[in-house]
Amino acid sequence: LEEQLRQSQKMEAVGTLAGGIAHDFNNILTVIAGYASLIQINTEESETAAMAGEIMISVERAAEMTRSLLAFSRKQEVHLETVDLNQVVAELHKSLSRLISEEIELVVRVCGEELCCLADRGQLEQVLINLAVNARDAMPGGGVLDISTGVAEPEGEDLPAGRCAVITVSDNGTGMDKEVQERVFEPFFTTKEVGKGTGLGLSSSYGIIKKHNGAIRMQSAPGAGTSFSIYLPLSGERPCRERGDAEGRCGAGS
Ligand code: ADP
Repeated sequence: LEEQLRQSQKMEAVGTLAGGIAHDFNNILTVIAGYASLIQINTEESETAAMAGEIMISVERAAEMTRSLLAFSRKQEVHLETVDLNQVVAELHKSLSRLISEEIELVVRVCGEELCCLADRGQLEQVLINLAVNARDAMPGGGVLDISTGVAEPEGEDLPAGRCAVITVSDNGTGMDKEVQERVFEPFFTTKEVGKGTGLGLSSSYGIIKKHNGAIRMQSAPGAGTSFSIYLPLSGERPCRERGDAEGRCGAGS
């Protein structure tokens, strides 16, 4: 428990710092991209134009990183709406199957109950995609990527109280040793080769779930696989379909 608290305080501090830097950094990147584009337009030399193009590609990569950092540091605004997590997961099925290779079997199982939560749909999808990409990368020789939903009443200091929706993303890939497990949520921590990983997927996912008053938990064993569980507070005590008010109904407005 103490370890979790320490971890969460550390993430808080890193988040504040990272958010401030990411914000200023974004402004600088806009200036760099602007000048690179001007050079490209104004130069007569194709070599110079190509180099300016390279600058713009790098700037775009850096911008992608700052976007992830901002998501992690909660500077990004959340647009909350009532969403049914089962629907989110089911609709993501197609994009996820495009993301993973043919050697990986994608199993999606949603529970029978509606899982209505107040959430930013786009950001939740981003979290699930991050987890799925990591699972894919952990199974280079193929395997099973299992995404399932359910209801739980988790107990623990930094877990949401009461009935929660749970989304579990599991793989039977490489797994992680203790050292890696301790660092996965740190921004810029990656074991992937340069260009393949930014080390921001899990830290931004952590930030997004935290913003939703939820929690993210990980279990992993080297050689056996990894499982991430996302806990999100359910928005109503009864399934929202029964409430009958248009505003509270799942998927309203979409
Ligand atoms: P990135 O994917 O860019 O490396 P992440 O923050 O998403 O950044 O992940 C950090 C690290 O955590 C990865 O480089 C990898 O070592 C480890 N990791 C994350 N998910 C898994 C998984 N499902 N199986 C094994 N290792 C994982």
